[in-house]
Amino acid sequence: MKPPARHRHDLIACHECDLLQRLPAEHLAGRVRCRRCGCVLDHGGHDPINPPLALGFTALILFVLSNSFPLLDFSLGGQHASTYLLAGIQQLYAQGAILLAGVVLFTTIIAPLLHISLLIYVFLPLSLGRRPPGFVAALRIMQAVLPWSMLEIFLLGVIVASVKLAERATIVAGPAAWSLAILVFVLAATTTQVHPGRLWDRIR
Ligand SMILES: [Zn+2]
Repeated sequence: MKPPARHRHDLIACHECDLLQRLPAEHLAGRVRCRRCGCVLDHGGHDPINPPLALGFTALILFVLSNSFPLLDFSLGGQHASTYLLAGIQQLYAQGAILLAGVVLFTTIIAPLLHISLLIYVFLPLSLGRRPPGFVAALRIMQAVLPWSMLEIFLLGVIVASVKLAERATIVAGPAAWSLAILVFVLAATTTQVHPGRLWDRIR
């Protein structure tokens, strides 16, 4: 009996142990695990385009909310003040902490926004059956920028600072703090939903 036709794109390298192996012909029906280490190589029948796109739009809305509303509200001796994400970075810059302001700007604004924009740029045309121009470069930049999106570390810093200041002032988390917290989870969810290997099947 003639063996089934095999194509080069059936080959997949395990991202954990580097074992090169072939995806089974019926892999679209279910999850495929590495033969050697057992990590998930392919998520099978899951839609690889619409969930990341939906998460991208959700993240965009949360990002806009996070930058439009107060992060924290302070009350001290009858005085009230609100702080915003961008205003905090401007304060750092004004106080001479230029490098720190740049790092915070990049990790909390530029990297997450670039990640979200590329997510929509790649997945919106794919959902309409078209390949976006610069698809490979966009996908590469999206993966490369991901480790620089550090909203969770920023949020942790805000919580620590709030706990320390709570002895002297009344601090209430503003709408931006809540939307940032949800955004952290949404961005984490996108990393589990983006499967570059499966996108090749759609754009060929
Ligand atoms: Zn493996």
